Amino acid sequence: MINFAWDFYQQRQIGELKTDQLSDSREHSAAIQRLEDRLDRLALINTAMWELIVARLGLTQQEIANQITEVDLRDGVLDGRIRPNDAPLKCSQCGRTLMQRHRTCLYCGQNHQPDTSAAV
Ligand SMILES: [Zn+2]
Repeated sequence: MINFAWDFYQQRQIGELKTDQLSDSREHSAAIQRLEDRLDRLALINTAMWELIVARLGLTQQEIANQITEVDLRDGVLDGRIRPNDAPLKCSQCGRTLMQRHRTCLYCGQNHQPDTSAAV
């Protein structure tokens, strides 16, 4: 009887775990899809801006590429990013370091959700 109850308990735990994992997996897939959508939109906007800059301002592709390198190097690392990968973000409200996985400051509660009202 105890074994039956224990088995039942374990089966239920396993079932709940599978449901949680499935839910996490779906949330991750949806998050990746949203990121891909934003990336596609940014690439589209970048291409349009790039073509306008070349056509209207007469800048060469090389000049724009050089500017990209200069901006990239402002943080001291040529890594294709504007900010180093491991640079901690600071809370805009209290200035403390934000935990990477938390969108809300643990110290003052300031919300740091990315602005989704922008066009991209
Ligand atoms: Zn804060």
